[in-house]
Amino acid sequence: MRGRKRRVRWLLIIPVGAVLRGRKRRVRWLLIIPVVILCAVIAVFAPRLEGESPKIAVEGFRPYLGADCGFTVTVSDKGSGLRHVKIVLQAGGRDFVLSDDVLDKQGPKAAGPVMSKKYKVRVEPRRMGIPDGPAVLSISAEDLSLRNWMHGNLAKVEKNDTRKPDVSVLSRHHYVTRGGSGLVVYRVMEKGTTHGVQVGDNFFPGYDGLFDDETVCLAFFAVDYRQDTDTPMFVVATDRAGNRSKAGFYYRIRPKKFAEDTIRISDGFLNMKMPEFDAPGDSKTPIEKFVWINSVQRGKDTKKIANLCRVSDSAIYWKGPFLRFPNSARRAGFGDKRQYIYNGRTVSHAVHMGVDLASVAHSPVPAANNGKIVFCGRIGIFGKTVVIDHGCGLFSMYSHLSSITVHPGRMVARGDYIGTSGMTGLAGGDHLHFGMMIHGVFVDPVEWWDGTWIENNITSKIEAAGVKFES
Ligand SMILES: [Zn+2]
Repeated sequence: MRGRKRRVRWLLIIPVGAVLRGRKRRVRWLLIIPVVILCAVIAVFAPRLEGESPKIAVEGFRPYLGADCGFTVTVSDKGSGLRHVKIVLQAGGRDFVLSDDVLDKQGPKAAGPVMSKKYKVRVEPRRMGIPDGPAVLSISAEDLSLRNWMHGNLAKVEKNDTRKPDVSVLSRHHYVTRGGSGLVVYRVMEKGTTHGVQVGDNFFPGYDGLFDDETVCLAFFAVDYRQDTDTPMFVVATDRAGNRSKAGFYYRIRPKKFAEDTIRISDGFLNMKMPEFDAPGDSKTPIEKFVWINSVQRGKDTKKIANLCRVSDSAIYWKGPFLRFPNSARRAGFGDKRQYIYNGRTVSHAVHMGVDLASVAHSPVPAANNGKIVFCGRIGIFGKTVVIDHGCGLFSMYSHLSSITVHPGRMVARGDYIGTSGMTGLAGGDHLHFGMMIHGVFVDPVEWWDGTWIENNITSKIEAAGVKFES
C-alpha cells in the first residue's frame, strides 16, 4: 500500500496521459523524458549563465577636447554575446551620450547574439555643444548572460588622463640679480601643455616651436626688485587634463641695493603740470593733487603697462645688445627709491621703474631693438608712450615723448625712429623714460644694453639648446 502511494505521488508529476495509459514500462520511459528535457534546457542555457564580463578596448582617445576628434571603441563578449553598449562623454559637469546601442533585439531576423562590435566615434565639440577642457570617456557594456537577475555581466571603463607631463631643464646655471632678467631652456615631452617659470608669486609663460626639436621650450623671467634672494623658482608644466609637473634648476639671486633719490617739488612744477591731470575732488591744493597722482595714478598706470605685456609674440625678434638713447646723460636709474620734498617736508614716495635719459630737447628716439609696436598713446604719469614687443615676453617702453611716429602693429628694426623726446606726463624736463619689462614685471634695462651680459645669460643658453642665434 505504501509503495503504491509513493508511485501515485510520482505519477502526479508525470504527464496525465501516462497515468491514463498506466503501463509500467511506459511509465519508466516517461520518467526519463523530463530528465532529458531538463538536460537539454540546461545545455541550451548554460552559456547564458556565464559570469565573464564583456571586454572594452579604446583607441585614439585624447582626454582633452578642443577641436573635432575621433576614436574607436571595440566591445566583445566571448560568453553570451552583447546586450547593451553605452558610450558617454563627461565634460564640463555634463553627460553627452555618444552612442546608446541595444543589441538584444529578438525577432524573426535576429541572427544570434552579437559577439563583438566596433564603434567609430566622432566628436565635434562645437556642433555638439561640448565645452573645451578635460573630458572623461565612460563606456559601459552588458552581455546576454542570465546572471544578475537577467541583467547580464556589466563591464565599465573610464578613460581620463592622470599622467603628469614629463619636464626637464636643459640650461645649467642661472645667475639673476634682484630687478634683473633670466632665461631657462627646458624640455616638455607632452604637447599642448601650459608651461613656464614660476618665480615666487609671478608666473612667466614659456614658448615652444622656436627650436627644430619641438619639445624644447624657453622662458624669459624676472626677479621683481621687491623679491628676496631666497625667492623660490622652478619650471612648471600643466597639461590640458590639469596634471602638473615641476622641475627645479640651479639658480642664484644676487642681492642688489637700489639708490635713493630726493626730488624737490616746486610751485612752478605744480603750476605747469597739474592742470593736465584729473584727481578726485578732495585733492584741493596742487600738492595734494600731486600726492594723489604720484601714488594712486602711478599705480594705475604701472598696472596698465603690465597688462600691455601679458600677451607676446612667440618669436625672438631682437638681435644683439639693446640700443641706448644716443648722446644722452643718465638722470635716474632703475629701482631708485624716490623721496619727494615740498616746502621742506617729505610728501610722497615712489620707486622709479626705468632709466631716465636726457639729450637735446625733441631728440629723435630710436627703437632699442627689432620688434612689433603694440601700444602708442598717453598713459597718465608716463605721458605719450610707445611699447614694443620683442617677443617671448620681452618688451621695451619709451615715455614722456613729445611726438610718436609709429602705429601699433608695425614692425620696427633696431634704430628706427619711433618719435621724439619730450616732457609729457609727470616730467619736469625733456627726457626719455626708458623701461623694459618681462611679462609685465619691470626689469633693469642696463643688462639689456650690455652685449657681454646678453651673451652669458641669454644667447649662450639658446645656442646650447640648438638654435643659431645671430648677434
Ligand atoms: Zn623716468
